[in-house]
Amino acid sequence: MNVFETLESEVRSYSRSWPTVFDRASGTWLYDADGKPYLDFFAGAGALNYGHNNPILKRALIDYLERDGVTHALDMGTVAKRDFLTTFRDVVLSPRGLDYKVQFPGPTGANSVESALKLVRKVTGRESIINFTNAFHGMTLGALSVTGNSMKRGGAGIPLVHATPMPYDNFLDGRTPDFLWFERLLEDSGSGLNEPAAVIVETVQGEGGINVARPEWLRALAELCKRHEMLLIVDDVQMGCGRTGPFFSFEAAGIVPDIVCLSKSIGGYGLPMALTLLRPELDVWEPGEHNGTFRGNNPAFITAAAALQEYWTSDLLEKGTRAKGEHIGRALESIAESTPGVEARGRGLARGLAFDVPEQAGQVCRAAFERGMLMETSGPESEVAKLMPPLTVTDEEVERGLSIVTDAVRSVCG
Ligand code: PMP
Repeated sequence: MNVFETLESEVRSYSRSWPTVFDRASGTWLYDADGKPYLDFFAGAGALNYGHNNPILKRALIDYLERDGVTHALDMGTVAKRDFLTTFRDVVLSPRGLDYKVQFPGPTGANSVESALKLVRKVTGRESIINFTNAFHGMTLGALSVTGNSMKRGGAGIPLVHATPMPYDNFLDGRTPDFLWFERLLEDSGSGLNEPAAVIVETVQGEGGINVARPEWLRALAELCKRHEMLLIVDDVQMGCGRTGPFFSFEAAGIVPDIVCLSKSIGGYGLPMALTLLRPELDVWEPGEHNGTFRGNNPAFITAAAALQEYWTSDLLEKGTRAKGEHIGRALESIAESTPGVEARGRGLARGLAFDVPEQAGQVCRAAFERGMLMETSGPESEVAKLMPPLTVTDEEVERGLSIVTDAVRSVCG
């Protein structure tokens, strides 16, 4: 008998999609308790950009534990934290000319979003936040209230937000995006929309179905924010840390958000860690105003700093991500061309196949699982089969994954 059937709550999803018990993991591979290998094109939903048990990060972590480095310290000053902050400034912020203060909002992406939402309301004295259709920002109440997926939101969203459709590549039909209609609403005091505190946006909606925002649209959005004194929050929880190529996903558009949410792969080793980056003048927090027991995950500071040193002091990972991503993109385009009702989407190593018949996406993921590969669905109707391997995936693993996906699509769509 499957132990999950008898012991686990009904509130589970991945253990239904992948009905096995995983035991070990290394690089792009997970192994179940019987030793069966699975190629991991899920990568902890973007939390494992450097692969499972990355040997460089593992070494740094073991060394730290062996010298009895501090593991838990709330938000006390520690050497691990100091070294992470210095490395983050030297490797990530300074070379990009970015000036942000770093807040540790709690261990998860949702914690980062919550702190951003609280801060923009405090700074501006305004209440509402503009979010986008199909956005996903986390499962806590505030984050849910700016999440555009009604199944995820359930009855929980607090009514302080305005959702608006987002003209992503796959919705645009070749039209030029503009904000005329939206700006009219902002200026119309009867619309109830006037004076929002901020806009929160993902440059590529991961959970929303790999919806890629065009750079010119993001620039227009940043301009709109300036004109209406709204703060711009980029939620880079899933697309940051190199998932789309550059360290921050918004770099490609040349915009500088007021606030950036980071989590998932920032810890590097799958350890919980999140950051909220704020323009220095926005730091109006009082000491203790946004706190929490697990804000200072020191082992994660160690692996995070090691990951930045190893992968972001040269452009090798970024270039590799672009090249592998484009290769996967071309392969998915060719699957889409030969399969009616299928569309290829994505940027960098965030890729997806969208199916006109939504159930087919789940069937393809199940067929991939039977062939020894993990990939998950996303999108409002779970209509997108998502491919997000670790950025350290090898060329051979990419080929293996693509041949499994091709075979899985053929088995479902004929
Ligand atoms: N924002 C985005 C864009 C996400 O993809 C996620 C997680 N999928 C979150 C926020 C929430 O992160 P967490 O699950 O760590 O709370």
